[in-house]
Amino acid sequence: MKLRTLAVGLLVGSLALTACGREGSPDSSGPVVSQSAAQNVTVEGSPTFDKMKQRGKVIIGVKEDQPGLGYKDPTSGEYSGFDVEIARLVAAQLGFDESKIEYKAIPSQSREQAISNGDIDYYVGTYSITDSRKQQISFAGPYFVAGQDLLVRKDDNSITGPESLKGKKVCSVTGSTPIQRVRSQGLTEPDNIVEFQNYSQCVDQLAQGNVDAVTTDDAILMGYAAQEPDKFKVVGKVFSEEKYGIGLPKDDKALRDKVNDILQQAIDDGTWQKIYDATLGKSGASATPPALERY
Ligand code: GLU
Repeated sequence: MKLRTLAVGLLVGSLALTACGREGSPDSSGPVVSQSAAQNVTVEGSPTFDKMKQRGKVIIGVKEDQPGLGYKDPTSGEYSGFDVEIARLVAAQLGFDESKIEYKAIPSQSREQAISNGDIDYYVGTYSITDSRKQQISFAGPYFVAGQDLLVRKDDNSITGPESLKGKKVCSVTGSTPIQRVRSQGLTEPDNIVEFQNYSQCVDQLAQGNVDAVTTDDAILMGYAAQEPDKFKVVGKVFSEEKYGIGLPKDDKALRDKVNDILQQAIDDGTWQKIYDATLGKSGASATPPALERY
């Protein structure tokens, strides 16, 4: 697992340099859109913000095996990707620069618990806003909209969409919306559903031929396909809407309002677009920011 991650990391580094024809890769450096920490920030009535201030740093829950979104370079230890940049933007606007950020990798299954336990101050990592999650935590956003799709081996033409999964082994992640959808819609037989903690583990299984498809958000799958384009392809038939939110402690309305203000400003002043273009947008796909849902 470690070796594979390293090999993949190296591959991505070289792809970023050659395929994109750009000098240096945001995947291996610091923030792509530099943010100076705002001064004298106050968030009246936010217990979470008070805790960060007292601690002198912010603890952010992220993914670290999702290239283009939330990725930790195995060599340099640097974090990169669209989600990480959004996390940094929020931290900077709350008054914390990069040196005051502690990242904590939290798998899909453990997000609500990590937030409600106070292990992290907020979470930015392909986290879909759902009603059932809202019972335990709050969301700011959405700051991006993705959709469930399928990753298959390059030479497999038998899987063309969700309706062609019967009899196929399908891998996804525990506690994620995509695995719930595979189950509730009976897309394949219960015995054919394989689940892991992280999507990179599913991708390993796909490479080894132990599963036939990995299912999750298209944005995540495109990152894996870009790393190993000779091995994998994304089917490209999206079958859900996944609105990504920033996960926050449930009763901290003051912080939620503040984070929504930060996102709105980044959308209005073009920072969101700059972040997108330097991360996910490098694949060539264009996107515009979604409308925030303030509830
Ligand atoms: N966006 C989906 C979810 O929140 C899938 C990606 C993930 O597991 O992080 O469950």
